[in-house]
Amino acid sequence: MFSLKDKVAVITGARRGIGKGIAERLAYAGADIVISDIDQEDCDKTAQEIADANSIQAIGVKCDVSNKDEVDSLIAKTVEKFGRIDILVNNAGIVKLDSFTEFREEDWNSVLDINLKGAFLCSQAAAKEMKKNNYGKIISIASIAGLVAYPNGSAYCASKAGIINLTREMAVELAGNKINVNAVAPGLVETPMTRFVMQDKEKLNQTLAAIPWNRPGQPSDIANAVQFLASDEADYITGQTLAVDGGWTIQ
Ligand code: NAP
Repeated sequence: MFSLKDKVAVITGARRGIGKGIAERLAYAGADIVISDIDQEDCDKTAQEIADANSIQAIGVKCDVSNKDEVDSLIAKTVEKFGRIDILVNNAGIVKLDSFTEFREEDWNSVLDINLKGAFLCSQAAAKEMKKNNYGKIISIASIAGLVAYPNGSAYCASKAGIINLTREMAVELAGNKINVNAVAPGLVETPMTRFVMQDKEKLNQTLAAIPWNRPGQPSDIANAVQFLASDEADYITGQTLAVDGGWTIQ
């Protein structure tokens, strides 16, 4: 079940954290993998590690998702190596927090450029290739901050809410080409991005008290959802956002 054997998957922001967890899971399910992130050496290292552990092929491609030329080159290199792209995971993202009235324009721009424009550019380039095969799965890592308010996160919340409705829009436009477009909205996941919460015991306990499962998520929790949405078993699911948050947003 949920096999990805012989599929080709590109994961952005995959040298660490949730992206790396997703890449490991998709490789375990049988997919060949393109590890993409902003540092070529880290991409190569992660790709090698994942290929060795799973007997699949993996390559690393440096790509800043907010740069159209680099995104086009990422998709071109994928097709050159593997002949096609079946699965795209838009995972790359950053967070910048400040009060709404003090939030700096340059921070707003970088968060929106990487989190939202990055998902647009990667999805557009990948969808052009997927259309040729009448097959594709695009999965974006949004956040529960795109569903509910997260204090001091104006740009982050707006970028993730943007991904959630872009997901619905792309799902409608691409359904005729049998391309599924879905999103996963994690709650608190233990990664380098959330070190500032993990290391602050008081803040962590306060947060955990609001999560019915009373623990932070792990990258593997998110990867499980992505594997399902990337599989043929999820063919009839499109335009959806699946919260993977230990129940944080249901009360
Ligand atoms: P992470 O540990 O910071 O990993 C994100 C990776 O993306 C990093 O390697 C980062 O590089 C890279 N990246 C940053 N800017 C990029 C760009 N322009 N192009 C390509 N790659 C870029 O974060 P994470 O926690 O794994 O988060 C992964 C995704 O999940 C993000 O979209 C995040 O918003 C989302 N998410 C995370 C949580 C959570 O609790 N962790 C919750 C909800 C949603 P640098 O090291 O240089 O930044």
